[in-house]
Parts: sequence; structure tokens; C-alpha cells
Amino acid sequence: MLSGKTALVTGSTSGIGQAIATRFAREGCNVVLNGFGDAGEIEAQRAGLAKDHGVKVGYSGADLTKPEAIAEMMDYVASDFGGADILVNNAGVQFVAPIEDFPVAKWDLIIALNLTAAFHTTRLALPGMKEKRWGRILNTGSAHAKVASPFKSAYVTAKHGLAGLTKVTALEGAKHGVRCNLICPGYVHTPLVDGQIADTAKARGLTREQVIEDVILEAQPTKEFVTVEQIAGFAAFLCSPDADQINGAELSIDGGWTAE
Ligand code: NAD
Repeated sequence: MLSGKTALVTGSTSGIGQAIATRFAREGCNVVLNGFGDAGEIEAQRAGLAKDHGVKVGYSGADLTKPEAIAEMMDYVASDFGGADILVNNAGVQFVAPIEDFPVAKWDLIIALNLTAAFHTTRLALPGMKEKRWGRILNTGSAHAKVASPFKSAYVTAKHGLAGLTKVTALEGAKHGVRCNLICPGYVHTPLVDGQIADTAKARGLTREQVIEDVILEAQPTKEFVTVEQIAGFAAFLCSPDADQINGAELSIDGGWTAE
């Protein structure tokens, strides 16, 4: 379905981004991976995707908190892949603390990675998309782009900001064949959430199972995690012709969390 196109998926060495990159490769799309991790494992992921799906797969280890590293990554995608037809702004981290104790450096990091990085990749990808008169930008939001939880000030602020960037990008791209949408997952069992489970269990003296049942899935009416494959399938749908008129939308995939 997406053969001949290239998708840049940030934060795709793990979790949701990895599943999205895999799904796009399965759709015949060339893929550029980005994120941190063990060099050997990343190379195995890169080479495996290329071999399994017969597509070209690249990798950039850019630290997306650094605008100059983002510019280098975008240059690489332009020179080696002819630019990103699909841009998935997905890399993100979490940190949990009351506002008065929230480390300033953590605030700066989360705003830089979860919000500002998407501005930089978008501003650098848009000219090529407009020229080709086709582009799809998917921002990984969160239920926390719509509602808040205590102790997640930086994350909730960044995700609400990403909702704003999504809508502006959608309006500016609309007449140029570019679409931009925000995917808003509820809880997905990835390393990011695993860290939260471990921290909460320690802080509250609970077992992992108690944290999952009573804390994490408390917010999610289905009482089930969203899977990374479900998000990846949704991302692929948003790049299909059936989704051509979906633009500037905040799309929940959260088991009903934000319906409450
Ligand atoms: P994850 O920890 O599994 O993956 C995060 C990815 O981001 C990794 O590839 C990591 O290497 C990369 N990354 C981290 N810092 C980076 C940096 N400075 N520069 C470049 N890459 C960096 O997390 P995940 O759960 O898959 O989260 C992916 C996205 O989904 C995030 O934006 C997160 O906020 C969002 N999200 C997650 C959940 C959930 O429940 N897991 C729910 C809603 C939204």
C-alpha cells in the first residue's frame, strides 16, 4: 500500500514506534528508524526489517532534544531517501513528580523531546511534502493530550502542546495534500509504562499486579492495555486513502479512558 514512500519514525527502537516502523515496512514503505539503544540490537532490527519486507531501512541515532541533531537527521533522510513522505513524531519520555518538586532539567527535557522536536521535524519535512503534494504527519499524543493526571505536569503540557501543533500543521498542509493527526493512546504496555509500574510499586509498597490492576488500568474502562500493534494498524490506516479527509483530529485509542 505504501510502496515507494518513506516513513521517518522517531523513537522507533522500542515500543510504539518500533511497532509502527515494522507495520510500515510490512506495507512496503521504506523506513528510517531513530532512537537510542544497544547498537547491535538496533542494527539487527534495521537489517531484519529490510530483509523481511524487501524495503530500504535506515537509522539515525539523533538525540531529538538537540535541534542541530534533528537537522542532521532530516538532511540524511533527504539525501538517502529523497525526504520523508510520512513523518511520525513519536519519541517521548515520562517523569512523575509533584510540580513543586519537579526537576527543572526534567521539565526542559520533556518539553524539548515530547513537543519541540516535533516542531523541528515538521518544519523541515513540510517543504518536501508540499512539493510532492502528498505528506502524512502523525504525532503520538496520549490520553494526556486531552485530560490531565496529577504529577505529570511536563508530559501533560507537552502532549497538550502537541495537539495544538497538530491542528496548525493540519490547516497549513490542507491545501497541499498534507494531513496531520494526533494519535492519543491510553496505556500501552511498553518499556515507558513498565518503568512507571516499577516506580509506583516501589513508592506505594504494592506488587506489580496491584499497580497494573488498581492504578494503571483504573483509568482505562476496558481494563486492558492498548497493544502496540493496534496503534501501528491505526497509523497505517491514517496513511491510507480511506483516511484522506481525516485531518487535524485528536484520535483516541484508549479503551474509553477519555469518554469518562
Ligand atoms: P518507549 O520508551 O518504549 O520508546 C521511546 C522511544 O523514544 C525509544 O525508541 C527511545 O530510544 C526514544 N527516545 C528517548 N529519548 C530520545 C531522544 N532524546 N532522542 C531520540 N529518541 C529518543 O516508549 P513508548 O511507550 O513506545 O512511547 C512512545 C510514545 O508514545 C511517546 O511519545 C509516549 O509519550 C507515547 N505514549 C505512550 C503510552 C504508553 O502507555 N506507553 C501512552 C500514550 C502515549
